[in-house]
Amino acid sequence: MLTENPSQVLDTAKGIFGNASFKAHEQVVFCQDEETGLKAIIGIHSTTLGPALGGTRMWNYSSEFDAIQDVLRLSRGMSFKAAISGLDLGGGKAVIIGDARKDKNEAMMRKFGQFVDSLSGRYITAEDVGISTKDMEYVKMETDHVTGIPVSMGGSGDPSPYTAYGVFMGMKASANFKWGSDSIEGKTVVVQGVGHVGETVVKHATEAGAKVIINDIYDDILENVASKFNAEIYKGDIYDLDMDIYAPCALGATVNDDTIGRLKCEVIAGAANNQLALENKHGMMLKERGIVYAPDFLINAGGLINVNSEIAKYDTDEVMKRTENIYNTTLQILNESDSLEITTHQAALKIAQERIDAAKK
Ligand code: NAD
Repeated sequence: MLTENPSQVLDTAKGIFGNASFKAHEQVVFCQDEETGLKAIIGIHSTTLGPALGGTRMWNYSSEFDAIQDVLRLSRGMSFKAAISGLDLGGGKAVIIGDARKDKNEAMMRKFGQFVDSLSGRYITAEDVGISTKDMEYVKMETDHVTGIPVSMGGSGDPSPYTAYGVFMGMKASANFKWGSDSIEGKTVVVQGVGHVGETVVKHATEAGAKVIINDIYDDILENVASKFNAEIYKGDIYDLDMDIYAPCALGATVNDDTIGRLKCEVIAGAANNQLALENKHGMMLKERGIVYAPDFLINAGGLINVNSEIAKYDTDEVMKRTENIYNTTLQILNESDSLEITTHQAALKIAQERIDAAKK
């Protein structure tokens, strides 16, 4: 457990078992190592379609409960992402509690690798927020159950460019659905979070002729991306800005009771996982306002497709083909959401759940 205080342990346990997100998870593992300061949680939502593959996020959570909540939501999302992308993978995810800029080091990542190894392949890790390809090299020293390792070591490298490409495909499909054309030329795109994925989303949108506004919590990151792509920097709350497309590429739950009424965009298409704070309620609010929401777990699957190439042994051409197909799947789901009168998120979830249910049988 993450704490020595028995009442806190009990509270944490109650937090998990009373948690609405913890309905169908197979396993949740707490990892702690005093020497390296590692505090991590691995969530395995489902192994029905295959081993639970999902990245590791390092974040300075304000409480252990927030970390649990995040890993439960993220690992569930991975099951649906793999299912809708036609991959033979289950859903899992890990979180490390701490500041990736200050607390992370080789010893910590290797210790984390040992915990991953102890699950004997039920969980396979990769990069997520706060974690780099270099970190995966350290994890690889302790376990084979890791993907997203450098190309020089025989891996598939950083998954982020593929994630960004898939997001761009989802953005184009949404533009087509909303405005009758794939083109985003002249549209204003606000990219929130310009880290590994966000930066490449900025690149694609800029090359496609969009006006791009960028936002991040770190000035050095903003200045770097702005100078590369001539993007406009906006510091502070972006939700009231005039924009056509909102691309959330930071953390989840930014589409919520507070922001939906303020958002002037007509399309939401971004990389962040769990963008809707409440899936059904906020998905429906977007639908009622005529905002096209490209389901996150569908359009951000490019990175998962790429890391899966290390397991399924397919080449870069196949990765690109599958990632490009996100365009077709997005259009199909947006149309289905209209004809079935359900939210786009529900339409995507339905297809993913049907595949998982069929495998169970
Ligand atoms: P990253 O850590 O490289 O980048 C995230 C960026 O968001 C950072 O620059 C950070 O400073 C910024 N940020 C954090 N909080 C913010 C806030 N409140 N406002 C504005 N900016 C903020 O992470 P990444 O790998 O680019 O992932 C971004 C998102 O995409 C995450 O939600 C992640 O789960 C999701 N995702 C990533 C991949 C991938 O291949 N890396 C795949 C699928 C989904």
